[in-house]
Amino acid sequence: MSKREIVIIPGDGIGPEITAAVIKVIEASGAEITWIEHVAGLAALEKGLDVLPDETLEAIKEHKVALKGPCTTPIGEGFTSVNVKLRKTLDLYAAVRPVRNLPGVITRFRNVDIVIIRENTEGLYSGVENIITPGVVMSMKVATEKACTRISHWAFEYARHRQRKKITVLHKANIMKLTDGLFIRKSKEASREYGDIQYEEMIIDAGCMKLVQDPALFDMLLLENLYGDLISDLCAGLVGGLGVVPGANIGDREAVFEAVHGSAPDIAGKGVANPLALLMSGVMMLNHLADTEGREDFRACAVRIKNAYDSALQEGDRTRDLGGKLGTMEFADALIRRI
Ligand code: ATP
Repeated sequence: MSKREIVIIPGDGIGPEITAAVIKVIEASGAEITWIEHVAGLAALEKGLDVLPDETLEAIKEHKVALKGPCTTPIGEGFTSVNVKLRKTLDLYAAVRPVRNLPGVITRFRNVDIVIIRENTEGLYSGVENIITPGVVMSMKVATEKACTRISHWAFEYARHRQRKKITVLHKANIMKLTDGLFIRKSKEASREYGDIQYEEMIIDAGCMKLVQDPALFDMLLLENLYGDLISDLCAGLVGGLGVVPGANIGDREAVFEAVHGSAPDIAGKGVANPLALLMSGVMMLNHLADTEGREDFRACAVRIKNAYDSALQEGDRTRDLGGKLGTMEFADALIRRI
């Protein structure tokens, strides 16, 4: 099979360390990839470029697929968030975050298998904030029929393709009657076209309680942007933390794969970060290319990588966040030995 060019964005904080580890593992799996490296976030600012340089955006448009490390957005200095800008500019409207128990990672629950679908382009992430008068500020939550409709259909199509049984929408339409009201109205309308998939609505505060009482009640969650952000971290906590939850941001043209976690500045540069969430995002990327471009060779690589991390975790080869002793690269090497 020919080599596939894929954009790699190492990011900052723990980004470069975990990206190096992930590239090593993916290469060991035999995946025929040429990595096209581009910068974003602090790494771009340090080079005197914009936080999300045009070259990086153009490269993703050209190659359609990118694997991205976490990028820091400095707080309160007038910088736009790299992640928000990337998702909006490329219209990567669907964030997919599968949250599952992993072999050997003992947590409070054993039966978690939830796919979170987060609307990625609007809500309170519209970034429209105003000073109404000194001492009074306002943030605007945006919901459009177009975005609510397409994310709902996308979620149901995903559910059907993956043989999922139920979609639960978590919302606060009792308070945000217009915005969340529109979201659930469009979700419910979409659900009528998918009689094979159960549809449920739940007020998000009650949903949070049920998630931490009995996550097995949930199969797929459909959420607007901010709820999706918060619930993703909550669900990560159910299965061992942010080191084990991958993600994909998917649009009609491009797809960017990245871990749910941020740049973790508290552990950056120490060689202890868990590369697994980014590696699992890489596995999602390989499967995406198998599905969309017929690259069955990539699907085989994805299986090899998954088998390697399942067996490593089961046998106690883990990073510190999962109670193990291995550093970032040691963990990658433990996987490569198994591959
Ligand atoms: P952001 O707002 O940028 O998404 P965040 O608030 O979610 O970031 P993170 O940077 O993800 O914060 O870090 C949250 C905590 O989880 C930190 O204590 C960090 O060290 C830990 N953490 C995050 N990712 C990893 C990882 N890959 N391996 C080990 N620990 C991690």
